[in-house]
Amino acid sequence: VANSCHFRFSHANAYDISELPLSERDLIERFAGFARSAGAGRRPRKLSPQIGSPQLVRGIGDDCAVLRSPGGDDLLVTTDFSLEGVHFRREWHPPESVGQRCLARGLSDIAAMGGKPVTAFLSLAVPPACSQFWVDRFMRGFLRLAGAFGVRLAGGDTAQSPAGVLADIIVLGSVPRGKAVLRSGAHPRDRIYVTGALGGSAAALQLLREARPKKLDPRKFPRHFFPEPRIGIGEFLRKEKLPSAMIDTSDGLSTDLSHICEQSSVGAKLWAERVPRARIPAPRKVVDLQLGLHGGEDYELLFTVPADLHVPRSIAGVPITCIGAITRNRKILLVNKNGSCETLKPAGWEHFRSNSDE
Ligand SMILES: [Mg+2]
Repeated sequence: VANSCHFRFSHANAYDISELPLSERDLIERFAGFARSAGAGRRPRKLSPQIGSPQLVRGIGDDCAVLRSPGGDDLLVTTDFSLEGVHFRREWHPPESVGQRCLARGLSDIAAMGGKPVTAFLSLAVPPACSQFWVDRFMRGFLRLAGAFGVRLAGGDTAQSPAGVLADIIVLGSVPRGKAVLRSGAHPRDRIYVTGALGGSAAALQLLREARPKKLDPRKFPRHFFPEPRIGIGEFLRKEKLPSAMIDTSDGLSTDLSHICEQSSVGAKLWAERVPRARIPAPRKVVDLQLGLHGGEDYELLFTVPADLHVPRSIAGVPITCIGAITRNRKILLVNKNGSCETLKPAGWEHFRSNSDE
């Protein structure tokens, strides 16, 4: 499932559900085509852009859109849906967790550009059966994360939903002019790094789906229930001029790496045993490699750095791990412990859906 830019599709993932007519990747590509041809068309004179209006530097195809305002920093814009039954379930996730996860998705996209989040807008539709107590607790979770990153809630919309809670956020951020870290800057021989550990969020989801235990203790699975976007690390990396390309791991390493490779017209080699896999407390274990490779919603940063630059082993207490290298050959290969290679397909959420529905 492609996580493409501020334009990101929220369809069937591991929670449920119905199919879109096209795959997410194809649908985004189609919309990008429409947007390009609309932009190239004849402009009615009355709608011609005013002098001094912001220009679109980067549109569909990255974690955020980048807008240039005259004389100032570049503006980052990202939007994300959080839909009941798709991204969360009220019987699985406490309302504070839903609120935090809702905003974390957008903040993580700002982190992936090396930016600083500034304001958020929230549009929330709630079904009649949902209590005000639930909504208040949702807002508590949302605003707690906003406060932790100095983000102001600046507006939004509310409505009644026919079924299910629907939340849509817009997050605005800023980055010094021309300095946004894009997905498209990776070069052959660059090293591939990831922050933290992978698969922890998907492991929690797997336990929830298997319903054993019926409920998970959110405190034991913080990366799933209360993800903290890597804003400080993204900014640090950008200021140190280390990353040539960057993305957040929202859909799973294999899928997110494929976005960098596509946008940069390169391939990659990943060393299986170097992929940092999350430890979970109950059952106490390190998650399987498959979860590390394909599990989504970890909101870590995946980035590439020229081979001659030094990358710290940890930043702000978070381990940074070198997991592979960019190649000229446009395939993504997984190198196993014994040295054998296999093609790594961007499996992401699809993988889990098909597995768990068997
Ligand atoms: Mg993203």
